[in-house]
Parts: sequence; structure tokens; C-alpha cells
Amino acid sequence: MATPPEPTRIGLAGLAVMGQNLALNIAEKGFPISVYNRTTSKVDETVERAKQEGNLPVYGFHDPESFVKSIRKPRVIIMLVKAGAPVDQTIKTLSAYMEKGDCIIDGGNEWYENTERREKAVAELGLLYLGMGVSGGEEGARNGPSLMPGGSFEAYKYIEDILLKVAAQVPDSGPCVTYIGKGGSGNFVKMVHNGIEYGDMQLIAEAYDVLKSVGKLSNEELKNWTVQQAADLSIAAPTIAASLDSRFLSGLKEERVKAAEVFKSGGFGDILADQEVDKEKLVDDVRRALYAAKICSYAQGMNLIRAKSIEKGWGLQLGELARIWKGGCIIRAIFLDRIKKAYDRNPDLANLLVDPEFAKEIIERQSAWRRVVCLAINSGISVPGMSSSLAYFDTYRRARVPANLVQAQRDYFGAHTYERVDMEGSFHTEWFKIAKQSKI
Ligand code: NAP
Repeated sequence: MATPPEPTRIGLAGLAVMGQNLALNIAEKGFPISVYNRTTSKVDETVERAKQEGNLPVYGFHDPESFVKSIRKPRVIIMLVKAGAPVDQTIKTLSAYMEKGDCIIDGGNEWYENTERREKAVAELGLLYLGMGVSGGEEGARNGPSLMPGGSFEAYKYIEDILLKVAAQVPDSGPCVTYIGKGGSGNFVKMVHNGIEYGDMQLIAEAYDVLKSVGKLSNEELKNWTVQQAADLSIAAPTIAASLDSRFLSGLKEERVKAAEVFKSGGFGDILADQEVDKEKLVDDVRRALYAAKICSYAQGMNLIRAKSIEKGWGLQLGELARIWKGGCIIRAIFLDRIKKAYDRNPDLANLLVDPEFAKEIIERQSAWRRVVCLAINSGISVPGMSSSLAYFDTYRRARVPANLVQAQRDYFGAHTYERVDMEGSFHTEWFKIAKQSKI
């Protein structure tokens, strides 16, 4: 293995898809990098790729000690290994050779509490720690990911120059990286970001299903439509939970095939009503429905992040998050600019839905959104993302919801007490007695 002429700027351990590509990206931006992997063949593979892709300054090591010692002090090492126990094992292996003031960065999809635990543990050795969400898969890692580093600000400052160059670059918005906040905030934000991505994909799939199954659009018509959609809005999002439930149901292929047979023999087709639809109008309605559902989906994701930020005192800047997701991610939508502007207008915005611009857009689209959901339901096409987004909107926009009856039932069954809107205090009613008396 070639040895570097002088200590390298940074190290990277874990050379599977993400690590290998991120290492090459870093080297290409002019930062000599040392690389290491538990299975040494991946080290050789990475060094060979670096040679093939333009003699990039990538230096491979087969043992952890010489790997760590090859890096300039204070050392910074990015880990890209499987989340969970492999991260703990890699920290143990590397920290044996690291010194006070050195820094470890976990670039994997780690549960944020694990990051917080490790940050405290390595602090006892005098080491700094960052949990950094990396979005964009193989392509992003190689050519420009969205980076979400959280944890030690001092550690972030060590490598800010590298991250600013390695991240996706978006004209007018800058590099897709910012210091997210303390503790496990980088991992938490990446987790919600992944949920939003699933939501986007689910909603697009639902729109496709409605247009193809109910609207009878041909593949060619759909493809035009999709391109136009991508250009107009980029992509759309439904509610995150609905997209996950749909994934679970989609996994039950054999059961669904059998269920389809059961209902077919009962005289039930795949599509319930073969109705005539105006294709052009349907396409327009679906576009509007997607956009409205997407606003709800992002509102939910942003609120999740905001709630955690308040709970943990992370002080996260929601507008900045929208900015760094513009490149490197699946969700790189023009729409993200509007989200950033909404938070610029009001950093304490309770919900994107009540931002004046988004509220106006929702109001303009809501009848189309309702038409699409009704049409889908009447046709037996499930649109869990679009319909749960609509339910979210309809619940959020009403000052009074029927939670009073839920609370009354809890009081009836478990004496949990309830509050009243007309007077202060906590109340309990002996509902059973009242019911008996009213019968008499
Ligand atoms: P991966 O398949 O998640 O992990 C493979 C890497 O982990 C290999 O380098 C492997 O080393 C190492 N590893 C596994 N167990 C180990 C152990 N006990 N001790 C030391 N090393 C161990 O790799 P990946 O797909 O490149 O992802 C890396 C991280 O980035 C993960 O957290 C992943 O969730 C996240 N991520 C992935 C993507 C993606 O598109 N793939 C996108 C964003 C984020 P060996 O070669 O020795 O087995």
C-alpha cells in the first residue's frame, strides 16, 4: 500500500457502498484521505477505484493502528458501517489508537439516542463525536450528498471546510450542509427526512394508481404526466405513517393474491366502478391533490422535528433543514424553497398549514383533493397517503373536534376524569348511575 507523503487530512472507516463513494468524493475535492475496512479486500478495491477515477489521493490501510496514525492531528474519522453494534465495535477498535481532541463521526443511519450515548462515552476518553445523517445513497455519496451533522460543534468546525465542498451544491442556496444542532439531532433529522421521502414516493404511487386504474391513462400518457409533475412540483408527499403501513401491506403479496380471489368469487372486481372520467380534469385534480397532500406531509415531518428540538433543547432551524434537503436527496423539490421562506417569515410557525401562502394554496386545491379521494374510495382504490393527509388537514383546521366524547368514555370506563370548556377544573361523572336514572 502506498503511504501518504504527509499525514492525511481525514480518515474513513467502513468501505461498503456509502463509505467507498464518500471517500472518493472527499479525495476528489482535494482532501487526502486514509481509508480502512474490517474486511481488507474492500480497502484494496477502494484504492484501485481511486486510481481508476483519476489518481485520487486515497490511502488504504489494512490495520487500524497504522490507519489512525496516518491522519493529521487532531484526527477526524468518519465511520460508515452498519448501524448498531458494528458502530460500537468500530469505535472500540479505532479509539484504542486515538488521542485527546480527536473526533469520530458516525455517518450511518443511527438511532439518535445511540449517538448521544456514544458522545458521552467517548467524551470520557477526551474524544469528540458527531452523528451525521448522509442522504442521497450511492450517487449522493459520490457526487454530492445532503449532510446533516449534529453533536459537538467544535468537531463540526474541524471539518466544516471539507463538508462544504463535499455536499451537494445548489445554485442560489449553497452547499447542502449545515450544523444541525447538539446531541443526536443530526440522526433525528435524517430519520424524519427518510420518513418524508417514503411519504413522497407513496403519494406518487397513489396518484399513479388513480390515473391508471380509474382514469385509464396509458403508460405513455402517464409518463408525460410524470415528467410534467416532476418539473412543476418535483415530487409529492402523503403522511409518513400511511406510507409505512402501505409498505407492510405491500409485503403481504401472497395474502393479497388470495384475498383478491376471495372477493372475485364474491362478484367483486379489482376496480369497483368502471366510471367514465374526464382524463384532462382528472390529471389536473390529481396534481392539485398531490400538492395539497404534500403540504400536509411536510407539515407533519417538520412538526415532528420541531417537537423533538423543543424537548431536547436543540434549537433546530427548520428553514435551514429545508435548504439543505434541496440537493442530494430524493425530496429535492422547488417546494422546499417555499418551506424555507415560510420559516424565514416566521421561525415560530406552529404549522406549515397556517403559513399564509400555504394556507392559500391548500384552500385553492382542497376541492380537487376531496374529489380525487372520493373517486378513489368509490372505485376501491386505496389512497392512504392522500386520504390521511386530508384527514390531518380536516382535523387541524377545526377549532373543535369530538375528543370530548373520547374523554367522556375514558371517564366512564376508567374514571380518568375530564375537563370542561365552560369551567376550570377536573371532573368525574358517575355515568352508569345517570344512565340508570334516565331509564327509570
Ligand atoms: P452497510 O451494508 O450498512 O454496512 C457494511 C459496512 O459495515 C461494511 O464496511 C462492513 O464491514 C461494516 N461492518 C459490518 N459489521 C461490522 C462490524 N461488526 N465491525 C466492523 N465493521 C462492520 O453499508 P452501507 O450501505 O454503505 O451503509 C453504511 C451506513 O450508511 C449505514 O448506517 C446505512 O444505513 C447508511 N446509509 C446507507 C445508504 C445507502 O444507500 N446504502 C444511504 C444513506 C445512509 P465488512 O466489509 O468487514 O463486512
